[in-house]
Amino acid sequence: MWDMPDSGSIFGAMLQEFDEAARILNLEPGIWRILTHPKRQITVSCPVQMDNGEIEVFTGYRVQYNITLGPAKGGIRYHPDVTLDEVTALAAWMTWKCAVAHIPFGGGKGGVVCDPTRMSRRELEALTRRYVAEIIDAIGPEKDVPAPDVNTNDQIMAWVMDTYSMHVGHTSTAVVTGKPVELGGSLGRREATGRGVMIVTREAAKHLGLDLKSATIAVQGFGNVGSVSADLLARAGARIVAVSSSKGGVYNAKGLDIAEMLDYAREHKTIDHFPGGESIDNEQLLALDADVLIPAALENQITADNAGTIRAKIVTEGANGPTTPDAHKMLHGRGIFVIPDILANSGGVTVSYFEWVQDRYGYFWEEEEVNARLEKKMREAFDDVLQTSLKYKVDLRTAAYIVAISRVGTVTKMRGMYA
Ligand code: NAD
Repeated sequence: MWDMPDSGSIFGAMLQEFDEAARILNLEPGIWRILTHPKRQITVSCPVQMDNGEIEVFTGYRVQYNITLGPAKGGIRYHPDVTLDEVTALAAWMTWKCAVAHIPFGGGKGGVVCDPTRMSRRELEALTRRYVAEIIDAIGPEKDVPAPDVNTNDQIMAWVMDTYSMHVGHTSTAVVTGKPVELGGSLGRREATGRGVMIVTREAAKHLGLDLKSATIAVQGFGNVGSVSADLLARAGARIVAVSSSKGGVYNAKGLDIAEMLDYAREHKTIDHFPGGESIDNEQLLALDADVLIPAALENQITADNAGTIRAKIVTEGANGPTTPDAHKMLHGRGIFVIPDILANSGGVTVSYFEWVQDRYGYFWEEEEVNARLEKKMREAFDDVLQTSLKYKVDLRTAAYIVAISRVGTVTKMRGMYA
């Protein structure tokens, strides 16, 4: 029996969001119970010989939260603070995200407790291969398809694909997404999450009558999601006034030159001391007087303690779980239009789905086709959630859960109970 989490847990925050929508839907108790329990949680120990000759043992997790709609889908995170609670919450959010995006996947997530910034490339490869070997019976194109997340990238996905392929005895590209394009990755995948963030922000601005071309935007996190969101929104004409990383941020009221900043980040591996603006810390960034705030770093950044300081009209959740449930109530109560993570950052998993489809077909699309299909899927998802929020008179997060729970719940009932 899975113990229900105590307060303060990230999975607990997911449950609070879930319950709100399930109550409105009058969800049957049996379906409610099924959808609030993870299907499978795997914990593994991964011994790795480090460069200094010592053997270290890293703890890894893979959670398959729900596979009713299709194979589990979700990234692998490398971070010192990874916990089973966090990975379970992220796997649940993947379940709802895939349902909102209307793609035939369930939800999964993986994580390894490690600090990749202190590891060599060889150590990272050894850890990745050992982690994959430990979970190998649970993954596969029909079972569970990992992808990149915080601190993992296309090279790590290439090692995942190679390790799995060596094990099954043939090249299996569809076992993982977010791979390099040369070995079965999709054009447009690297930019997909940020592109989706740009699309839903643009749709929200349209809905609220805000002109994106005169809008100001602050972005927390300048990794894959944050940097691409900033770049594409700047190209759409918006003024990016601040961005940050874990060490702090840069602010320029006239707008930062994002193209220059991307070059700087590529060269220096950091945005610290970028010459085009003044330094600010992450709390200051969140409280800036910008029209749009995009948290694109980690969970629990907007809390009851700082929600009152937020002045944005739109908060687009590029990260997973950046706003705690209490903080979300405060933002919604103040009329701030929050585009929830399970909608806002679903562009990544949508193009991961396109990658999986292309791998299975062995036929690859032009980038324009990928982007056009993503645009259509994101607009449909945004519209489904917006219409649901108007119909039920609820915030967008509750509406997104209503859409997701209805879809997964209906199929759960149709499939019936085994044994
Ligand atoms: P990443 O590792 O590429 O970048 C993370 C960024 O956040 C880095 O710039 C890091 O310096 C910054 N950061 C870390 N802690 C911070 C803090 N306390 N304050 C400010 N900045 C901080 O990761 P990513 O892939 O861009 O993922 C970011 C978020 O988006 C995560 O929540 C992830 O789960 C979510 N997400 C990612 C994808 C994807 O396709 N990569 C898809 C959906 C959701």
